[in-house]
Amino acid sequence: MVLIESYRFGDGASGRNGGQLGTGQRAWAEDLEAEYGLSRAKALFDLAEEAKAHLIEFAAANQIDIDYMPGQLSVAHKARYVDDYKAHAEIMAHRFSYPYISFMDAKETAERLGSTAYFGGTRDTGTGHIHPMKLVNGTARVAAQAGAQLFEGTPSTGIVSAGGKVRVSTPRGTVTAQKCLIAVNAYGGTLEPVSAAHHADRFLHRCDSAFGGRFESAARGRVRR
Ligand SMILES: Cc1cc2nc3c(=O)[nH]c(=O)nc-3n(C[C@H](O)[C@H](O)[C@H](O)COP(=O)(O)OP(=O)(O)OC[C@H]3O[C@@H](n4cnc5c(N)ncnc54)[C@H](O)[C@@H]3O)c2cc1C
Repeated sequence: MVLIESYRFGDGASGRNGGQLGTGQRAWAEDLEAEYGLSRAKALFDLAEEAKAHLIEFAAANQIDIDYMPGQLSVAHKARYVDDYKAHAEIMAHRFSYPYISFMDAKETAERLGSTAYFGGTRDTGTGHIHPMKLVNGTARVAAQAGAQLFEGTPSTGIVSAGGKVRVSTPRGTVTAQKCLIAVNAYGGTLEPVSAAHHADRFLHRCDSAFGGRFESAARGRVRR
């Protein structure tokens, strides 16, 4: 396996994120339940729990010191959100079999946080915080030990499929492989036409909504007057 990286490992989001090991998906489980039903919402929640467990186990098994700090607080910056936080703790325990979230009133929140700016919140003792760059470096070490060839400072400049192979060009040479996994996050630019078009369209659409329909037309050379 060959892995190429434009700059240094961790140069993108993986090296500079907040290190929060989130419980569940980005949306609260009860919101996903409202949209997809309990069994699908539970499956999505369980998937995220597996990912959390995998990360902790992977780091431990490979002696990657990720500075794991247990505990996570989510706090309400408006009084009207407090009831949702209270309900969330109960729903997680009773409907999603996750007993680690407890509700905090304003007093407990202030004591734990050292700030009186918040109205309450939840405390999750089933998750925590890691050092993202240590995870990136440790993962690179494990990959190299497993035989992967790693090349930093090596941007892919083109990807061509032909004759059942994929050829990835870089300024330093070409990689020929059976398969190519593109994992460039939002930094791919025009590297790959399908997602490049997708990104541009979404960006233009968002700008268009914000600018009352003028932006997309102007950007596409069709200015509406
Ligand atoms: C500010 C911030 C805070 C975040 N906080 C959290 C958090 O607390 N918890 C959490 O779970 N998630 C968090 N996230 C999200 C999380 O960091 C990302 O979802 C995750 O790191 C994405 O990983 P990735 O491997 O897909 O992309 P990245 O880590 O961005 O990696 C993509 C890599 O591709 C390289 N690349 C780009 N183009 C090319 C090319 N042509 N050739 C070769 N290499 C190329 C880039 O240099 C980059 O290193 C946060 C994200 C941000 C931005």
